[in-house]
Amino acid sequence: MPARPHAAIITVGTELVTGQRLDTNGAEIASALLASNLDVVEMLSVADDIDRLAAHLARLTGDCAVVVVTGGLGPTHDDITREAASRALKRPLVRAHEIEKTLASIIARHREPEAAEHILTQADVLDGADVIAPTTGTAPGQIVQTPGGVLLLLPGPPREMRPMLASFLGTTCPATPPIRLRSTGITESDAQIAAQRVIGDAQGVGLTVLAAPADVEVVLFDEGAGLPELERIGALVRAELGDVCYSSDGSSLAETVVMLARRRRVRLACAESCTGGKIASALTDIAGASEAFQGGVVSYANELKTDALGVPAEMLERFGAVSDETARAMVTGVAALTHAEFAVATTGIAGPDGGTAEKPVGLVWFGLQTPSGVSSVRREFFGDRAGVRTRATMFALDLLRRALMES
Ligand code: ATP
Repeated sequence: MPARPHAAIITVGTELVTGQRLDTNGAEIASALLASNLDVVEMLSVADDIDRLAAHLARLTGDCAVVVVTGGLGPTHDDITREAASRALKRPLVRAHEIEKTLASIIARHREPEAAEHILTQADVLDGADVIAPTTGTAPGQIVQTPGGVLLLLPGPPREMRPMLASFLGTTCPATPPIRLRSTGITESDAQIAAQRVIGDAQGVGLTVLAAPADVEVVLFDEGAGLPELERIGALVRAELGDVCYSSDGSSLAETVVMLARRRRVRLACAESCTGGKIASALTDIAGASEAFQGGVVSYANELKTDALGVPAEMLERFGAVSDETARAMVTGVAALTHAEFAVATTGIAGPDGGTAEKPVGLVWFGLQTPSGVSSVRREFFGDRAGVRTRATMFALDLLRRALMES
């Protein structure tokens, strides 16, 4: 059974290994490689140190089919990636004249004569490399054939790196994209066992399970089975996961909710206490959400629950803010305010303080408004404050998803 080709990622820059800048390229590139059916086996950050980078490049180009490097391609003395790659592959640097020409106008902006030589080093590429012309920056990308595969050199700035990576993957690594089944309300182990049961002895299908709080992704890879077989197994695994599975193409839960609401041409709203705006934030992250999402109220204080949502003060006094009655009144209030057909409300105790024996930390009441009426659900989530809030947000979005799927 042919395994997926191995890939490795190196991000270059002293600022990355000293905590001065967060490496976002690494994760972004890893996701793109995964979506191209490559098996990322190593990812590392290296300081601006030619010897160290050259050693890693020699090792990784020796055993990975695809090695992607970002950063260190600029014009200053600490931009060492070209030189390190040249040493590692024992291949000279040659000047790419078409790139050199595009740098003329940049040279003209500098006062120091020496600056021209620095700028022009960006046109130095490994002998035989395919050059990816820059669209937003000045440094070109390079695709270099290695004995074991290919080395891709990309600039560090994300907006320069991104289009070059996409063009490389589109032309050099066309592959069957994996099937990405996302679920909420199931554990990682249960999802893994369910998927494994379906895959059984089938040949040529790889499986990985990725888990985040209240979000489990089953990824099925083509390891020789081919697209029709991968799709057949994907449909069977989805059926096995059942109604906890909310998407088969990697879409997020919020994306799924917005898509369902837009398809049904209905409006959404939310009233949030313990989730503090996370539901509204997740929905408004999605492009096109305005076609469905009306808005929400973050009613943290009891007074606002009363003033903005019309939750009776006596109700809050009698049953408490975290109660079935309040959750229902909150959702009714926000639906009336926004004229949304579907709305959700959260009120709970995120912790770490504020729990009692009757109302422990992690307790959340949810209200749900749909065209067929109002309902409520009680849940107890585990975890710290952040975990409870994230799980409550996912649960609320899932209530909307399930309601939107009902006819
Ligand atoms: P330039 O031509 O801009 O110098 P370069 O290829 O030399 O490009 P670097 O100098 O290493 O890239 O980085 C330039 C900028 O790109 C950094 O200041 C940072 O803003 C961003 N950057 C670099 N590497 C990363 C990374 N791994 N994750 C996120 N941002 C990065």
